[in-house]
Amino acid sequence: MSMETENVVARLKSSGLFQTKGLIGGKWIDAYDGKTVEVYNPANGEVIASVACMGERETKDAISSAYDAFSHWSKLTAADRSSRLYKWYNLLIEQKEVLGQLITLEQGKPLKEAIGEVVYGASYIEYFAEEAKRVYGDILPSPMPDRRLFVLKQPVGVVGAITPWNFPLAMITRKAGPALACGCTLVIKPSELTPLTALAAAELALQAGIPPGVLNVVMGDAPKIGKALLESPQVRKLTFTGSTAVGKKLMAGAAETVKKVSLELGGNAPCIVFDDADLEVALEGSLATKLRNSGQTCICTNRLLVQEGIYDKFINAYSNAVQSLKVGNGFSEGVDQGPLINEAAVQKVDSLVQDAISQGAKVVVGGKRHSLGLTFYEPTIISDVKNEMLIARQEIFGPVAPVIRFKTEEEAIQIANDTDAGLAAYLFTNNIQRSWRVSEALEYGIVGVNEGLHAYEVAPFGGFKQSGLGREGSKYGLDDFLEIKCICMGNMG
Ligand code: ADP
Repeated sequence: MSMETENVVARLKSSGLFQTKGLIGGKWIDAYDGKTVEVYNPANGEVIASVACMGERETKDAISSAYDAFSHWSKLTAADRSSRLYKWYNLLIEQKEVLGQLITLEQGKPLKEAIGEVVYGASYIEYFAEEAKRVYGDILPSPMPDRRLFVLKQPVGVVGAITPWNFPLAMITRKAGPALACGCTLVIKPSELTPLTALAAAELALQAGIPPGVLNVVMGDAPKIGKALLESPQVRKLTFTGSTAVGKKLMAGAAETVKKVSLELGGNAPCIVFDDADLEVALEGSLATKLRNSGQTCICTNRLLVQEGIYDKFINAYSNAVQSLKVGNGFSEGVDQGPLINEAAVQKVDSLVQDAISQGAKVVVGGKRHSLGLTFYEPTIISDVKNEMLIARQEIFGPVAPVIRFKTEEEAIQIANDTDAGLAAYLFTNNIQRSWRVSEALEYGIVGVNEGLHAYEVAPFGGFKQSGLGREGSKYGLDDFLEIKCICMGNMG
């Protein structure tokens, strides 16, 4: 282990945050057959830890403990649940430096971005600690004089939450915050690529007084864990962030027990730069949306649409900015871009670039693996891209900006909407009528106007079309964890 890893692990151990077992019923537990899976640092390939590799049996036990805990947790007052969530929020913030280091270690993003993720992720716990007290019902005007009608909102029950590796903390808190606020209990399955942050966050939840069994964590054999969650009639809801392919499988699997399903799947974000954009604003915003987390977010720009009048000036400035980015280990000072998560990710990115080149696209900057080796990829711009090319149809999930030139607003809207995805879109213009017109025409759940970074706990996050179902964050984020019950009281006249 390098000194860097040893130091981070030692700090985590001293606060009890270096956990490598699953959490079931408030106890840290090995896989029943003793199997483990290794967690790697993508920046240097070294093994950070071996964590429990669990499957169906452990998941069933986690579901049982969440089911048992539900009867107690759901009956606490909202104020009680809220104060425990506040404690969890405070602990996450107190530990933001070391949690950030852990994220950089297992996920690779630059430390500043990783600490930013902790603050962002914690904000969901704070926000839903507040919202816990605002789950209101309704009294309805009765059509009969001697009847009274009420609407009561109740927690759905046990929730299965499956999360990806690109935001090892925030994708968990975005689900756990509203679920716990409503009175639901959880079985969380983090990505096997980044389980350590999830386990550290779960330890802090225990320290915050979230009772045993309310929040369980299992990881290991993803299909087996998924199967156990899907088959159990005790799991009343599944919330998932990840690839569209796996999301579709889970949605189909949930049909058997008619579970509620929330899905936050892949995007194919267009970023449209109009001739009348402010060059500086467009440059800053479009770089931010492309390069956050080395392009590994579902709301990252996947297609850069640039109007012909600003094209040369914009691409020139964009290239200069991309060329000056520093690529390296996320712990090194001044690094803007870390490694990609693993070899499969690099191969996918590179094959999309090579395919585009073979179809006539041109490399403006980058276009290949970085000289640092491992999973580092050069920040890349390719021009002369057509919307039919694979690179414009699939989610790249890497630091590559494919540029499509367009002439008219109608053409830009047509290209932008010509995809099965509908998560995030961006546009840059100084024309106020155009900003409304285009925002309304885009078939996307999240639209940034002269704005490239666009994810806040107070705002609904989710997609149209095949990018998913439901919304996370904001006051709408509670709805997916609640059932609506209508109570009719008779003989009231
Ligand atoms: P990504 O390509 O971003 O890793 P995935 O959809 O493969 O996206 O992974 C997101 C999450 O889904 C991870 O926690 C992963 O382990 C989990 N996962 C993958 N396949 C399955 C499956 N068949 N059933 C349940 N979970 C799965």
